[in-house]
Amino acid sequence: MSTAFFTATSQDCLLAENETTHNRRILERWCPFINERRAAGMTPTSIAKEIKQRVSKSMSKVKPLVNALIEFQRLPKSLAVAMELGHLDPDRIVAIGNKLRGVADEALDAIDEDFAQYLRPTLADEALVLARSMADHLGKLILEHDPGKREGPKASESKGKVHVDPDQRFRFSFSLPPVEGAAAYANLQAFCNKHGCGIGEAFQRIVAGEKRPKAVLNVYASPEGIAYLPGPGWLSDADARRLHLTKKQVISELITTLKYQPRKDIRAFVKGRDGSCRFPGCDVDALHCQLDHAVPHAKGGATSARNLHLLCQHHHNMKTNGEVSVVLGPDGTDTWTLADGSTAVTLPSGPLAEITDDS
Ligand SMILES: [Zn+2]
Repeated sequence: MSTAFFTATSQDCLLAENETTHNRRILERWCPFINERRAAGMTPTSIAKEIKQRVSKSMSKVKPLVNALIEFQRLPKSLAVAMELGHLDPDRIVAIGNKLRGVADEALDAIDEDFAQYLRPTLADEALVLARSMADHLGKLILEHDPGKREGPKASESKGKVHVDPDQRFRFSFSLPPVEGAAAYANLQAFCNKHGCGIGEAFQRIVAGEKRPKAVLNVYASPEGIAYLPGPGWLSDADARRLHLTKKQVISELITTLKYQPRKDIRAFVKGRDGSCRFPGCDVDALHCQLDHAVPHAKGGATSARNLHLLCQHHHNMKTNGEVSVVLGPDGTDTWTLADGSTAVTLPSGPLAEITDDS
C-alpha cells in the first residue's frame, strides 16, 4: 500500500511545492516576528500595522493572520505538523485561529493532540479539506475538551433590517441564531418544494399567512452527545437546548430501497455522513447539496448509502456530463478521476463520518 499524502503537498507538482514553501515560510518568519514584538509590549494591531508596511498588503489581510498566528501557536504539535507539511495557507490559519479564540488554556493539550493527528493525511492522493471543514472539525474538538465552550454563551437575538432599493424593490436581510435559522430555512425549503417556487416567493407567501407544510429538521449527535445541525455544524449545549426533538432514531448505512428516490432515513444518513459536497476541494454544505447515485440507478446502482453521496449542483453536473468519474468505496471514501487524468480521494466529513456499520 502506498504512503498517505495530500495531493496539495505532492513533491511532483511545482505549483503544490511553491504553495507549501510559501505557507511554511509564513509560519517560520511571521511567528518569531510577532512573538518578539509582543514580548516588547506591542499590541496585535500595532504589529499588524508594521507587517502591513513591510509587505505592502491590506490590513484586512494582515490583521486576521497576525491574530490567528498568535492563537495557532497555542497548539504546538499542530503547528509542528503545519511546518512539516506546509499545507496550511493563510485562509486555513485564519479559520483555525478564529475557532481558538477564548478557548481555555487547560483544554489546549487534549485539543492539540487530536488536531495534530487530524492534520495528517490518512490515504494516498487525499484531497486536502478547505478552511471551513478544518475549522468545523476543530470546533468539535473544542466542544469535546473545553467545558466553557461546550456550554456556550446565551443565544443572541435574531436581527433583521429592511431596505428599499433605488429600483423600488424591497431587500430584507436577517441574521438568526443557529437553531432558529436552521428551522426557518427548513420551513422555507419545505414550502419551495411543495409549490415549486423560490425562497423569496416562499417568504412572501408565508408572511402573508399562507399555510406551510410541516418541515423536518434532522439533528445528529456525536457519541459524546454533542448536537450537529447541517449548516451551522456542531452546537454548544446552550444552543442545543433550544431544539425541540420529537423523534430519536438510530440510522444505519445498510438500509436500501429498489426505488430511485432514497427514503428519508437514507437521505438523512448520507447527509450526516458526508457533511458537504464530496468533490475534491469543494465544501458546499450538505444543506445545499443533492444526493447522487455514484453508480447510476439506470446502470443498476443501488439506492443505498453505499452508493449515494452528496454533490453540489455544479459538481453533480460535471459528473453527469462525464467530465469526471468517481468510485464510492464501502468505507465511504470517494476516489475521483479528474479531467486531467489525476486522482484525488475525499473522505466523508459529516457528524456520522466515523460511524461504520460492517454488520
Ligand atoms: Zn461541489
